[in-house]
Amino acid sequence: MEEKRIGVYVCWCGTNIAKMVDVEAVAAKIAKLPNVVIAKDYKYMCSDPGQEMIVKDIKEHKLNRVVVSACSPRIHELTFRKALENAGLNQYMFEMANIREQVSWVHDNREEATIKALDLVKGAVNRVNFHEALDKRSVDINPATMVIGGGVTGLSAALELADAGNKVYLVEKTGNLGGHVANIDLTFPGLNSAAEVLEPLIYKVNNHPEVEVYLNTTIDEVFGYVGNFESTIKSGGKEYELKFGNIIVATGLTPFDPGKISSYNYEKLPDVITSLELEKMLKEGNVVKKDGSEPKKIAIIHCVGSRNADYHEYCSRVCCLSALKFSNQLRSALPETNLFQIYADMRAFGKGCEEFYASTSKKDVMFLMYDQQGDLPRISKAEEDAGYEMGIEFYEKLSGEDIIVPADMVVLMVAMEAHEEAKEVAHAVGISLCGNEFYIERHPKLDPVATTTDGVYIAGTCQGPKDIPDSVSQAKAAAARILASIARGTVEVEVTTAVVNEDVCCGCQTCIKVCPYTAISFDEEKNVSVVNEILCKGCGTCGSACPTGAIRARHFTDEQILSQIEGLFSKEMQEV
Ligand code: SF4
Ligand code: SF4
Ligand code: SF4
Repeated sequence: MEEKRIGVYVCWCGTNIAKMVDVEAVAAKIAKLPNVVIAKDYKYMCSDPGQEMIVKDIKEHKLNRVVVSACSPRIHELTFRKALENAGLNQYMFEMANIREQVSWVHDNREEATIKALDLVKGAVNRVNFHEALDKRSVDINPATMVIGGGVTGLSAALELADAGNKVYLVEKTGNLGGHVANIDLTFPGLNSAAEVLEPLIYKVNNHPEVEVYLNTTIDEVFGYVGNFESTIKSGGKEYELKFGNIIVATGLTPFDPGKISSYNYEKLPDVITSLELEKMLKEGNVVKKDGSEPKKIAIIHCVGSRNADYHEYCSRVCCLSALKFSNQLRSALPETNLFQIYADMRAFGKGCEEFYASTSKKDVMFLMYDQQGDLPRISKAEEDAGYEMGIEFYEKLSGEDIIVPADMVVLMVAMEAHEEAKEVAHAVGISLCGNEFYIERHPKLDPVATTTDGVYIAGTCQGPKDIPDSVSQAKAAAARILASIARGTVEVEVTTAVVNEDVCCGCQTCIKVCPYTAISFDEEKNVSVVNEILCKGCGTCGSACPTGAIRARHFTDEQILSQIEGLFSKEMQEV
Protein backbone atom coordinates (compact mmCIF):
# COMPACT_ATOMS: atom_id res chain seq x y z
CA MET A 1 0.00 0.00 0.00
CA GLU A 2 1.18 3.50 -0.85
CA GLU A 3 2.76 5.40 2.05
CA LYS A 4 0.73 8.52 2.82
CA ARG A 5 2.86 11.67 3.01
CA ILE A 6 0.90 14.78 3.93
CA GLY A 7 2.06 18.41 3.84
CA VAL A 8 0.05 20.93 5.89
CA TYR A 9 0.21 24.71 5.33
CA VAL A 10 -1.35 27.15 7.78
CA CYS A 11 -1.90 30.65 6.40
CA TRP A 12 -1.68 33.91 8.36
CA CYS A 13 -3.54 35.94 5.72
CA GLY A 14 -1.42 38.86 6.98
CA THR A 15 -3.11 39.60 10.26
CA ASN A 16 -6.54 38.43 9.06
CA ILE A 17 -6.05 34.98 10.55
CA ALA A 18 -2.91 35.44 12.65
CA LYS A 19 -4.44 38.12 14.90
CA MET A 20 -7.03 35.65 16.21
CA VAL A 21 -5.45 32.24 15.62
CA ASP A 22 -2.04 31.14 16.89
CA VAL A 23 -1.02 29.82 13.46
CA GLU A 24 2.46 28.77 14.61
CA ALA A 25 0.95 26.64 17.41
CA VAL A 26 -1.52 25.06 14.96
CA ALA A 27 1.29 24.11 12.55
CA ALA A 28 3.46 22.76 15.38
CA LYS A 29 0.64 20.58 16.79
CA ILE A 30 -0.52 19.30 13.41
CA ALA A 31 3.05 18.25 12.57
CA LYS A 32 2.63 15.48 15.17
CA LEU A 33 -0.34 13.81 13.45
CA PRO A 34 0.21 10.45 11.72
CA ASN A 35 1.32 10.71 8.07
CA VAL A 36 2.04 14.45 8.36
CA VAL A 37 5.54 14.83 6.95
CA ILE A 38 5.75 18.58 7.09
CA ALA A 39 3.61 21.38 8.60
CA LYS A 40 4.39 25.05 8.04
CA ASP A 41 2.83 28.44 8.62
CA TYR A 42 3.25 31.25 6.11
CA LYS A 43 2.06 34.85 5.72
CA TYR A 44 0.24 34.62 2.41
CA MET A 45 -0.23 31.08 1.14
CA CYS A 46 -1.94 32.17 -2.10
CA SER A 47 0.97 34.44 -3.08
CA ASP A 48 3.44 33.20 -5.68
CA PRO A 49 6.10 32.41 -3.02
CA GLY A 50 3.43 30.55 -0.99
CA GLN A 51 2.43 28.39 -3.95
CA GLU A 52 6.07 27.86 -4.95
CA MET A 53 6.78 26.62 -1.41
CA ILE A 54 4.06 23.98 -1.75
CA VAL A 55 5.35 22.89 -5.18
CA LYS A 56 8.93 22.66 -3.86
CA ASP A 57 7.89 20.68 -0.77
CA ILE A 58 5.81 18.23 -2.83
CA LYS A 59 8.89 17.47 -4.91
CA GLU A 60 11.48 17.51 -2.13
CA HIS A 61 9.49 15.61 0.50
CA LYS A 62 7.63 13.39 -1.94
CA LEU A 63 4.30 14.59 -0.56
CA ASN A 64 1.27 12.83 -2.01
CA ARG A 65 -1.41 14.77 -0.13
CA VAL A 66 -1.71 18.46 0.82
CA VAL A 67 -3.86 20.41 3.28
CA VAL A 68 -4.03 24.21 3.20
CA SER A 69 -5.65 25.86 6.15
CA ALA A 70 -6.57 29.38 5.07
CA CYS A 71 -9.64 31.14 3.66
CA SER A 72 -12.82 29.74 2.11
CA PRO A 73 -12.28 27.09 -0.59
CA ARG A 74 -14.59 29.21 -2.75
CA ILE A 75 -11.76 31.73 -2.98
CA HIS A 76 -8.58 29.72 -3.42
CA GLU A 77 -9.29 26.01 -3.74
CA LEU A 78 -8.61 26.18 -7.48
CA THR A 79 -5.38 28.14 -6.88
CA PHE A 80 -3.98 25.40 -4.67
CA ARG A 81 -5.27 22.56 -6.83
CA LYS A 82 -3.35 24.16 -9.69
CA ALA A 83 -0.21 24.29 -7.50
CA LEU A 84 -0.54 20.54 -6.90
CA GLU A 85 -0.84 19.95 -10.63
CA ASN A 86 2.25 22.10 -11.23
CA ALA A 87 4.12 19.77 -8.91
CA GLY A 88 2.83 16.71 -10.77
CA LEU A 89 0.33 15.67 -8.08
CA ASN A 90 -3.33 14.92 -8.84
CA GLN A 91 -5.36 18.01 -7.89
CA TYR A 92 -7.87 15.99 -5.87
CA MET A 93 -5.21 14.93 -3.35
CA PHE A 94 -5.93 18.26 -1.70
CA GLU A 95 -8.14 19.49 1.13
CA MET A 96 -8.73 22.97 2.46
CA ALA A 97 -9.67 24.00 6.01
CA ASN A 98 -11.36 27.38 6.32
CA ILE A 99 -9.89 29.08 9.39
CA ARG A 100 -10.59 32.63 8.23
CA GLU A 101 -14.34 33.00 7.48
CA GLN A 102 -15.19 30.15 9.86
CA VAL A 103 -12.74 31.04 12.64
CA SER A 104 -10.74 34.28 12.79
CA TRP A 105 -13.47 36.49 11.36
CA VAL A 106 -16.21 35.19 13.63
CA HIS A 107 -14.46 34.72 16.99
CA ASP A 108 -13.07 37.08 19.57
CA ASN A 109 -11.30 34.69 21.93
CA ARG A 110 -7.83 33.81 20.61
CA GLU A 111 -7.45 30.60 22.60
CA GLU A 112 -10.85 29.21 21.61
CA ALA A 113 -10.34 30.30 18.01
CA THR A 114 -6.99 28.50 17.90
CA ILE A 115 -8.55 25.28 19.26
CA LYS A 116 -11.32 25.49 16.68
CA ALA A 117 -8.76 26.07 13.91
CA LEU A 118 -6.83 23.07 15.14
CA ASP A 119 -10.00 20.92 15.05
CA LEU A 120 -10.77 22.00 11.47
CA VAL A 121 -7.23 21.20 10.33
CA LYS A 122 -7.34 17.81 12.11
CA GLY A 123 -10.55 17.05 10.22
CA ALA A 124 -8.97 18.06 6.92
CA VAL A 125 -5.85 15.96 7.56
CA ASN A 126 -7.95 12.92 8.50
CA ARG A 127 -10.01 13.37 5.36
CA VAL A 128 -7.13 13.83 2.92
CA ASN A 129 -5.81 10.42 4.02
CA PHE A 130 -8.75 8.91 2.13
CA HIS A 131 -8.58 11.03 -1.01
CA GLU A 132 -8.25 9.30 -4.35
CA ALA A 133 -6.80 10.63 -7.60
CA LEU A 134 -9.58 11.55 -10.06
CA ASP A 135 -9.07 11.99 -13.79
CA LYS A 136 -10.01 15.23 -15.54
CA ARG A 137 -12.76 15.06 -18.13
CA SER A 138 -13.57 17.49 -20.91
CA VAL A 139 -16.48 17.96 -23.32
CA ASP A 140 -16.71 19.61 -26.75
CA ILE A 141 -18.16 23.12 -26.93
CA ASN A 142 -21.02 24.06 -29.25
CA PRO A 143 -19.90 27.55 -30.40
CA ALA A 144 -23.45 28.99 -30.42
CA THR A 145 -24.57 31.10 -27.43
CA MET A 146 -28.02 31.98 -26.15
CA VAL A 147 -28.25 35.57 -24.86
CA ILE A 148 -31.35 36.20 -22.74
CA GLY A 149 -32.34 39.88 -22.75
CA GLY A 150 -32.17 42.43 -25.56
CA GLY A 151 -31.14 45.53 -23.60
CA VAL A 152 -27.82 47.31 -24.00
CA THR A 153 -26.07 44.48 -22.11
CA GLY A 154 -27.52 41.65 -24.18
CA LEU A 155 -26.93 43.56 -27.42
CA SER A 156 -23.28 44.25 -26.53
CA ALA A 157 -22.63 40.64 -25.56
CA ALA A 158 -24.33 39.33 -28.71
CA LEU A 159 -22.25 41.55 -31.00
CA GLU A 160 -18.99 40.64 -29.27
CA LEU A 161 -19.67 36.94 -29.83
CA ALA A 162 -21.11 37.31 -33.35
CA ASP A 163 -18.28 39.56 -34.58
CA ALA A 164 -15.93 36.70 -33.74
CA GLY A 165 -17.92 34.50 -36.12
CA ASN A 166 -20.12 32.65 -33.65
CA LYS A 167 -23.84 32.01 -33.81
CA VAL A 168 -25.93 33.93 -31.24
CA TYR A 169 -29.59 33.39 -30.36
CA LEU A 170 -30.80 36.65 -28.81
CA VAL A 171 -34.04 36.10 -26.92
CA GLU A 172 -36.08 39.13 -25.81
CA LYS A 173 -39.34 38.88 -23.89
CA THR A 174 -40.80 42.16 -25.19
CA GLY A 175 -41.44 43.27 -28.76
CA ASN A 176 -38.44 45.66 -28.90
CA LEU A 177 -34.69 45.68 -28.47
CA GLY A 178 -33.01 48.30 -26.30
CA GLY A 179 -34.40 47.68 -22.82
CA HIS A 180 -34.56 50.64 -20.41
CA VAL A 181 -31.91 52.62 -22.28
CA ALA A 182 -34.42 52.99 -25.13
CA ASN A 183 -36.47 55.24 -22.81
CA ILE A 184 -33.56 57.47 -21.81
CA ASP A 185 -32.98 60.85 -23.43
CA LEU A 186 -29.40 61.72 -22.42
CA THR A 187 -26.68 59.80 -20.60
CA PHE A 188 -24.54 61.12 -17.74
CA PRO A 189 -21.99 62.62 -17.15
CA GLY A 190 -21.43 63.74 -20.76
CA LEU A 191 -25.09 64.54 -21.53
CA ASN A 192 -24.78 62.58 -24.76
CA SER A 193 -27.73 61.16 -26.63
CA ALA A 194 -28.67 57.65 -25.41
CA ALA A 195 -30.00 56.92 -28.90
CA GLU A 196 -26.51 57.48 -30.31
CA VAL A 197 -25.31 54.64 -28.07
CA LEU A 198 -28.23 52.32 -28.63
CA GLU A 199 -29.34 52.65 -32.23
CA PRO A 200 -26.06 51.54 -33.86
CA LEU A 201 -26.07 48.48 -31.55
CA ILE A 202 -29.65 47.57 -32.52
CA TYR A 203 -28.93 48.14 -36.22
CA LYS A 204 -25.81 45.92 -36.13
CA VAL A 205 -27.55 43.15 -34.22
CA ASN A 206 -30.60 43.17 -36.51
CA ASN A 207 -28.38 42.98 -39.58
CA HIS A 208 -25.70 40.60 -38.34
CA PRO A 209 -25.58 37.29 -40.23
CA GLU A 210 -24.59 35.41 -37.07
CA VAL A 211 -27.36 36.79 -34.82
CA GLU A 212 -30.89 35.36 -34.72
CA VAL A 213 -33.19 37.74 -32.84
CA TYR A 214 -36.34 36.33 -31.21
CA LEU A 215 -38.71 39.03 -29.92
CA ASN A 216 -41.81 38.40 -27.76
CA THR A 217 -40.10 35.19 -26.78
CA THR A 218 -39.90 33.14 -23.62
CA ILE A 219 -37.65 30.20 -22.84
CA ASP A 220 -38.61 26.88 -21.40
CA GLU A 221 -36.33 24.98 -19.11
CA VAL A 222 -32.79 24.66 -20.39
CA PHE A 223 -31.41 21.11 -20.46
CA GLY A 224 -27.87 19.92 -20.85
CA TYR A 225 -24.53 21.07 -19.56
CA VAL A 226 -21.72 23.47 -20.40
CA GLY A 227 -20.87 23.21 -24.08
CA ASN A 228 -24.08 21.36 -24.91
CA PHE A 229 -27.27 23.07 -23.77
CA GLU A 230 -30.66 22.85 -25.46
CA SER A 231 -34.01 24.52 -24.93
CA THR A 232 -37.37 25.17 -26.53
CA ILE A 233 -38.32 28.81 -27.01
CA LYS A 234 -41.83 30.09 -27.72
CA SER A 235 -42.06 33.06 -30.16
CA GLY A 236 -45.40 34.29 -32.03
CA GLY A 237 -47.15 31.13 -31.27
CA LYS A 238 -44.27 29.08 -32.74
CA GLU A 239 -41.79 26.83 -30.95
CA TYR A 240 -38.11 26.51 -31.81
CA GLU A 241 -35.62 23.93 -30.56
CA LEU A 242 -32.24 25.58 -30.04
CA LYS A 243 -28.86 24.06 -29.21
CA PHE A 244 -26.05 26.17 -27.79
CA GLY A 245 -22.90 25.80 -25.71
CA ASN A 246 -23.15 28.77 -23.36
CA ILE A 247 -25.73 31.19 -21.98
CA ILE A 248 -25.51 34.87 -21.04
CA VAL A 249 -28.36 36.05 -18.83
CA ALA A 250 -28.93 39.81 -19.22
CA THR A 251 -32.51 40.19 -18.08
CA GLY A 252 -32.09 43.67 -16.63
CA LEU A 253 -34.07 45.44 -13.95
CA THR A 254 -37.50 46.55 -12.83
CA PRO A 255 -38.06 50.04 -11.39
CA PHE A 256 -39.25 50.23 -7.77
CA ASP A 257 -42.94 51.04 -7.26
CA PRO A 258 -42.94 54.29 -5.21
CA GLY A 259 -46.60 53.69 -4.28
CA LYS A 260 -45.16 51.47 -1.52
CA ILE A 261 -43.96 54.59 0.34
CA SER A 262 -47.12 56.28 1.61
CA SER A 263 -45.50 59.64 2.49
CA TYR A 264 -44.77 60.32 -1.19
CA ASN A 265 -48.44 60.12 -2.23
CA TYR A 266 -47.49 58.77 -5.67
CA GLU A 267 -50.57 58.34 -7.90
CA LYS A 268 -52.60 60.33 -5.35
CA LEU A 269 -51.09 63.74 -6.10
CA PRO A 270 -51.14 64.27 -9.90
CA ASP A 271 -47.72 65.88 -10.30
CA VAL A 272 -45.70 63.41 -8.25
CA ILE A 273 -43.94 61.45 -11.00
CA THR A 274 -41.12 58.91 -11.27
CA SER A 275 -37.70 59.43 -12.82
CA LEU A 276 -38.82 57.26 -15.76
CA GLU A 277 -41.86 59.44 -16.36
CA LEU A 278 -39.65 62.55 -16.39
CA GLU A 279 -37.27 60.80 -18.85
CA LYS A 280 -40.23 60.30 -21.18
CA MET A 281 -41.25 63.96 -20.93
CA LEU A 282 -37.68 65.13 -21.57
CA LYS A 283 -37.37 62.79 -24.54
CA GLU A 284 -40.59 64.16 -25.99
CA GLY A 285 -39.44 67.72 -25.19
CA ASN A 286 -42.58 68.40 -23.21
CA VAL A 287 -42.11 68.80 -19.44
CA VAL A 288 -45.56 69.85 -18.24
CA LYS A 289 -47.84 69.27 -15.29
CA LYS A 290 -50.94 67.11 -15.61
CA ASP A 291 -53.01 70.24 -16.36
CA GLY A 292 -50.69 71.06 -19.29
CA SER A 293 -49.04 74.08 -17.65
CA GLU A 294 -45.31 74.60 -17.10
CA PRO A 295 -44.00 73.74 -13.60
CA LYS A 296 -42.41 76.70 -11.83
CA LYS A 297 -40.86 74.68 -8.99
CA ILE A 298 -39.51 71.15 -9.47
CA ALA A 299 -38.13 69.05 -6.61
CA ILE A 300 -36.19 65.83 -7.21
CA ILE A 301 -36.12 63.34 -4.31
CA HIS A 302 -33.24 60.83 -4.27
CA CYS A 303 -33.02 57.26 -2.94
CA VAL A 304 -36.71 56.34 -3.36
CA GLY A 305 -36.71 52.72 -2.26
CA SER A 306 -32.90 52.57 -2.04
CA ARG A 307 -30.64 52.62 1.03
CA ASN A 308 -33.59 52.10 3.33
CA ALA A 309 -34.04 49.02 5.51
CA ASP A 310 -37.82 49.00 4.90
CA TYR A 311 -37.40 48.69 1.11
CA HIS A 312 -33.91 48.01 -0.28
CA GLU A 313 -30.77 48.48 1.76
CA TYR A 314 -28.55 48.67 -1.30
CA CYS A 315 -27.65 51.80 -3.27
CA SER A 316 -29.10 51.81 -6.80
CA ARG A 317 -25.91 53.50 -8.02
CA VAL A 318 -27.33 55.59 -10.87
CA CYS A 319 -30.03 57.74 -9.22
CA CYS A 320 -27.79 60.55 -7.90
CA LEU A 321 -26.17 61.02 -11.28
CA SER A 322 -29.49 60.73 -13.14
CA ALA A 323 -30.94 63.38 -10.80
CA LEU A 324 -28.01 65.70 -11.58
CA LYS A 325 -28.53 65.00 -15.27
CA PHE A 326 -32.20 66.02 -14.90
CA SER A 327 -31.16 69.29 -13.26
CA ASN A 328 -29.00 70.10 -16.29
CA GLN A 329 -31.74 69.17 -18.73
CA LEU A 330 -34.44 71.05 -16.83
CA ARG A 331 -32.24 74.12 -16.42
CA SER A 332 -31.93 74.23 -20.24
CA ALA A 333 -35.58 73.39 -20.98
CA LEU A 334 -37.12 75.60 -18.27
CA PRO A 335 -34.57 78.33 -17.42
CA GLU A 336 -36.88 80.18 -15.04
CA THR A 337 -37.93 77.14 -13.00
CA ASN A 338 -36.72 76.70 -9.40
CA LEU A 339 -34.91 73.37 -8.99
CA PHE A 340 -34.42 71.49 -5.72
CA GLN A 341 -32.32 68.33 -5.22
CA ILE A 342 -33.47 66.62 -2.01
CA TYR A 343 -30.79 64.00 -1.43
CA ALA A 344 -29.68 61.63 1.32
CA ASP A 345 -25.99 61.36 0.37
CA MET A 346 -24.49 62.41 -2.92
CA ARG A 347 -22.76 59.39 -4.47
CA ALA A 348 -21.00 60.66 -7.55
CA PHE A 349 -18.41 57.93 -8.10
CA GLY A 350 -17.19 57.02 -11.56
CA LYS A 351 -15.17 58.70 -14.26
CA GLY A 352 -16.14 62.34 -14.68
CA CYS A 353 -19.02 62.09 -12.19
CA GLU A 354 -17.68 64.14 -9.27
CA GLU A 355 -16.80 66.87 -11.77
CA PHE A 356 -20.35 66.63 -13.14
CA TYR A 357 -21.73 67.11 -9.61
CA ALA A 358 -19.49 70.17 -9.11
CA SER A 359 -20.55 71.77 -12.40
CA THR A 360 -24.27 71.05 -11.78
CA SER A 361 -24.11 72.64 -8.33
CA LYS A 362 -23.17 75.92 -10.05
CA LYS A 363 -26.33 75.93 -12.15
CA ASP A 364 -28.66 77.58 -9.70
CA VAL A 365 -29.89 74.34 -8.16
CA MET A 366 -30.68 74.18 -4.44
CA PHE A 367 -29.28 71.08 -2.73
CA LEU A 368 -31.04 70.00 0.48
CA MET A 369 -30.21 66.93 2.55
CA TYR A 370 -32.75 64.69 4.26
CA ASP A 371 -32.05 62.11 6.93
CA GLN A 372 -32.31 58.65 5.37
CA GLN A 373 -32.35 57.09 8.82
CA GLY A 374 -35.15 59.35 10.10
CA ASP A 375 -38.62 60.14 8.72
CA LEU A 376 -38.73 60.27 4.94
CA PRO A 377 -39.91 63.51 3.29
CA ARG A 378 -43.71 63.90 3.25
CA ILE A 379 -45.39 65.36 0.16
CA SER A 380 -48.75 67.05 0.79
CA LYS A 381 -51.15 69.18 -1.21
CA ALA A 382 -50.54 72.87 -0.46
CA GLU A 383 -53.21 75.34 0.66
CA GLU A 384 -55.32 76.83 -2.19
CA ASP A 385 -53.65 80.26 -1.97
CA ALA A 386 -50.06 79.06 -1.32
CA GLY A 387 -48.82 79.92 -4.82
CA TYR A 388 -47.52 76.39 -5.37
CA GLU A 389 -49.17 72.96 -5.48
CA MET A 390 -47.32 70.77 -3.01
CA GLY A 391 -45.20 71.07 0.09
CA ILE A 392 -42.37 68.62 0.87
CA GLU A 393 -41.81 68.51 4.59
CA PHE A 394 -38.63 67.06 6.10
CA TYR A 395 -35.80 67.58 8.54
CA GLU A 396 -33.01 69.29 6.59
CA LYS A 397 -29.75 67.90 7.92
CA LEU A 398 -27.34 70.63 6.82
CA SER A 399 -29.30 73.46 8.47
CA GLY A 400 -30.65 71.29 11.29
CA GLU A 401 -34.18 72.61 10.69
CA ASP A 402 -37.58 71.18 9.79
CA ILE A 403 -38.47 72.78 6.45
CA ILE A 404 -41.17 72.72 3.76
CA VAL A 405 -40.02 72.89 0.15
CA PRO A 406 -42.61 74.27 -2.30
CA ALA A 407 -43.10 72.33 -5.56
CA ASP A 408 -45.38 72.08 -8.60
CA MET A 409 -43.78 68.84 -9.71
CA VAL A 410 -41.95 66.22 -7.65
CA VAL A 411 -39.69 63.66 -9.31
CA LEU A 412 -39.05 60.42 -7.40
CA MET A 413 -35.68 58.79 -8.22
CA VAL A 414 -36.88 55.21 -7.97
CA ALA A 415 -34.63 52.30 -7.00
CA MET A 416 -33.53 49.52 -9.34
CA GLU A 417 -35.03 46.16 -8.47
CA ALA A 418 -34.25 42.74 -9.82
CA HIS A 419 -36.45 41.87 -12.79
CA GLU A 420 -39.85 40.52 -11.75
CA GLU A 421 -39.21 37.36 -13.79
CA ALA A 422 -35.69 36.82 -12.46
CA LYS A 423 -36.82 33.79 -10.45
CA GLU A 424 -38.33 32.01 -13.46
CA VAL A 425 -35.25 32.60 -15.59
CA ALA A 426 -33.02 31.45 -12.72
CA HIS A 427 -35.03 28.25 -12.49
CA ALA A 428 -34.90 27.72 -16.26
CA VAL A 429 -31.11 28.05 -16.52
CA GLY A 430 -30.21 26.64 -13.09
CA ILE A 431 -28.67 29.65 -11.33
CA SER A 432 -29.29 31.22 -7.92
CA LEU A 433 -30.56 34.52 -6.56
CA CYS A 434 -29.19 36.55 -3.66
CA GLY A 435 -31.38 37.98 -0.87
CA ASN A 436 -32.26 40.97 -3.08
CA GLU A 437 -33.20 38.63 -5.92
CA PHE A 438 -30.36 39.68 -8.19
CA TYR A 439 -28.41 36.75 -9.66
CA ILE A 440 -25.44 35.52 -7.66
CA GLU A 441 -22.05 35.54 -9.30
CA ARG A 442 -19.56 32.72 -8.76
CA HIS A 443 -17.27 35.07 -6.82
CA PRO A 444 -17.98 38.78 -6.22
CA LYS A 445 -14.38 39.85 -6.85
CA LEU A 446 -12.57 37.10 -8.71
CA ASP A 447 -15.34 35.75 -10.94
CA PRO A 448 -18.10 38.37 -11.16
CA VAL A 449 -19.77 37.33 -14.43
CA ALA A 450 -19.68 33.54 -14.04
CA THR A 451 -22.23 31.61 -11.98
CA THR A 452 -21.91 28.34 -10.13
CA THR A 453 -23.51 26.66 -13.16
CA ASP A 454 -20.75 26.11 -15.70
CA GLY A 455 -21.50 27.77 -19.02
CA VAL A 456 -24.06 30.22 -17.60
CA TYR A 457 -22.91 33.83 -17.25
CA ILE A 458 -24.67 36.93 -15.90
CA ALA A 459 -24.16 40.53 -17.01
CA GLY A 460 -25.66 43.95 -16.41
CA THR A 461 -28.31 44.99 -13.92
CA CYS A 462 -29.65 41.46 -13.43
CA GLN A 463 -26.51 40.93 -11.31
CA GLY A 464 -26.94 44.16 -9.31
CA PRO A 465 -27.58 47.89 -9.91
CA LYS A 466 -25.12 49.48 -12.30
CA ASP A 467 -24.78 52.11 -15.03
CA ILE A 468 -24.39 51.66 -18.80
CA PRO A 469 -20.54 51.49 -18.92
CA ASP A 470 -20.43 48.87 -16.15
CA SER A 471 -23.21 46.86 -17.83
CA VAL A 472 -21.37 46.90 -21.16
CA SER A 473 -18.10 45.94 -19.43
CA GLN A 474 -19.80 42.91 -17.90
CA ALA A 475 -21.38 41.99 -21.23
CA LYS A 476 -17.99 42.03 -22.91
CA ALA A 477 -16.35 40.17 -20.00
CA ALA A 478 -18.96 37.39 -20.23
CA ALA A 479 -18.54 37.23 -24.00
CA ALA A 480 -14.74 37.07 -23.60
CA ARG A 481 -15.06 34.13 -21.22
CA ILE A 482 -17.19 32.30 -23.75
CA LEU A 483 -14.90 33.17 -26.66
CA ALA A 484 -11.95 31.73 -24.71
CA SER A 485 -13.78 28.44 -24.18
CA ILE A 486 -14.89 28.34 -27.85
CA ALA A 487 -11.26 28.90 -28.89
CA ARG A 488 -10.16 25.96 -26.74
CA GLY A 489 -12.87 23.81 -28.31
CA THR A 490 -13.39 21.81 -25.15
CA VAL A 491 -14.12 22.59 -21.54
CA GLU A 492 -13.13 20.73 -18.40
CA VAL A 493 -16.04 19.48 -16.33
CA GLU A 494 -16.14 18.62 -12.65
CA VAL A 495 -15.39 14.98 -11.96
CA THR A 496 -16.72 14.85 -8.41
CA THR A 497 -19.88 13.19 -9.65
CA ALA A 498 -22.08 10.32 -8.45
CA VAL A 499 -21.38 6.74 -9.48
CA VAL A 500 -23.56 3.62 -9.11
CA ASN A 501 -22.23 0.30 -7.88
CA GLU A 502 -24.28 -2.00 -10.11
CA ASP A 503 -23.68 -5.01 -7.85
CA VAL A 504 -25.44 -3.31 -4.96
CA CYS A 505 -28.18 -1.35 -6.82
CA CYS A 506 -31.63 -2.97 -6.34
CA GLY A 507 -33.31 -0.90 -9.08
CA CYS A 508 -35.72 0.95 -6.76
CA GLN A 509 -35.21 4.22 -8.74
CA THR A 510 -35.41 6.40 -5.61
CA CYS A 511 -32.30 8.26 -6.82
CA ILE A 512 -34.02 9.18 -10.12
CA LYS A 513 -36.90 10.80 -8.23
CA VAL A 514 -34.68 12.92 -5.98
CA CYS A 515 -31.97 14.07 -8.41
CA PRO A 516 -32.53 17.84 -8.90
CA TYR A 517 -30.52 17.85 -12.16
CA THR A 518 -32.28 14.90 -13.88
CA ALA A 519 -28.87 13.33 -14.19
CA ILE A 520 -29.94 9.72 -13.54
CA SER A 521 -31.68 7.34 -15.96
CA PHE A 522 -32.68 3.71 -15.64
CA ASP A 523 -31.18 0.76 -17.50
CA GLU A 524 -34.19 -1.60 -17.85
CA GLU A 525 -32.06 -4.46 -19.12
CA LYS A 526 -29.64 -4.47 -16.19
CA ASN A 527 -32.27 -3.18 -13.70
CA VAL A 528 -29.90 -0.54 -12.37
CA SER A 529 -29.70 3.24 -12.32
CA VAL A 530 -27.12 5.02 -14.49
CA VAL A 531 -25.64 8.47 -13.81
CA ASN A 532 -24.97 10.88 -16.68
CA GLU A 533 -21.68 12.20 -15.33
CA ILE A 534 -21.82 15.37 -17.41
CA LEU A 535 -25.25 16.37 -16.06
CA CYS A 536 -24.44 15.34 -12.49
CA LYS A 537 -23.41 18.25 -10.24
CA GLY A 538 -22.20 16.03 -7.41
CA CYS A 539 -24.78 17.47 -5.01
CA GLY A 540 -25.02 14.17 -3.11
CA THR A 541 -28.83 14.09 -2.83
CA CYS A 542 -29.04 10.65 -4.45
CA GLY A 543 -26.42 9.19 -2.12
CA SER A 544 -28.33 10.18 0.98
CA ALA A 545 -31.61 8.80 -0.40
CA CYS A 546 -30.32 5.47 -1.76
CA PRO A 547 -31.53 2.67 0.55
CA THR A 548 -28.72 0.25 -0.33
CA GLY A 549 -25.73 2.59 -0.44
CA ALA A 550 -25.21 1.72 -4.12
CA ILE A 551 -24.78 5.30 -5.28
CA ARG A 552 -21.99 7.45 -3.94
CA ALA A 553 -20.43 10.78 -4.85
CA ARG A 554 -16.78 10.73 -5.85
CA HIS A 555 -14.63 12.85 -3.50
CA PHE A 556 -17.45 12.81 -0.92
CA THR A 557 -17.41 9.15 0.06
CA ASP A 558 -18.70 8.01 3.45
CA GLU A 559 -15.14 7.15 4.40
CA GLN A 560 -13.89 10.64 3.60
CA ILE A 561 -16.70 12.48 5.36
CA LEU A 562 -16.76 10.25 8.45
CA SER A 563 -13.00 10.50 8.85
CA GLN A 564 -13.28 14.30 8.68
CA ILE A 565 -15.97 14.31 11.37
CA GLU A 566 -13.86 12.00 13.49
CA GLY A 567 -10.90 14.39 13.16
CA LEU A 568 -13.06 17.36 14.11
CA PHE A 569 -14.33 15.74 17.30
CA SER A 570 -11.29 13.77 18.36
CA LYS A 571 -10.06 14.50 21.86
CA GLU A 572 -6.47 14.86 20.64
CA MET A 573 -4.88 18.30 20.98
CA GLN A 574 -7.71 20.03 22.81
CA GLU A 575 -5.32 22.57 24.28
CA VAL A 576 -2.83 24.98 22.80
FE1 SF4 B 1 -5.62 35.13 2.76
FE2 SF4 B 1 -6.59 32.93 1.62
FE3 SF4 B 1 -4.52 34.13 0.52
FE4 SF4 B 1 -4.23 32.93 2.86
S1 SF4 B 1 -4.72 31.94 0.95
S2 SF4 B 1 -3.42 34.92 2.27
S3 SF4 B 1 -6.23 33.22 3.78
S4 SF4 B 1 -6.58 34.98 0.75
FE1 SF4 C 1 -28.16 13.93 -9.26
FE2 SF4 C 1 -26.85 15.13 -7.26
FE3 SF4 C 1 -26.85 12.47 -7.48
FE4 SF4 C 1 -25.50 13.92 -9.24
S1 SF4 C 1 -25.07 13.76 -7.04
S2 SF4 C 1 -26.82 12.23 -9.70
S3 SF4 C 1 -26.80 15.70 -9.42
S4 SF4 C 1 -28.62 13.76 -7.06
FE1 SF4 D 1 -30.07 1.80 -7.17
FE2 SF4 D 1 -29.81 3.29 -4.94
FE3 SF4 D 1 -30.83 4.35 -7.16
FE4 SF4 D 1 -32.26 2.56 -5.77
S1 SF4 D 1 -31.61 4.58 -5.08
S2 SF4 D 1 -31.96 2.62 -8.01
S3 SF4 D 1 -30.60 1.20 -5.07
S4 SF4 D 1 -28.73 3.55 -6.91
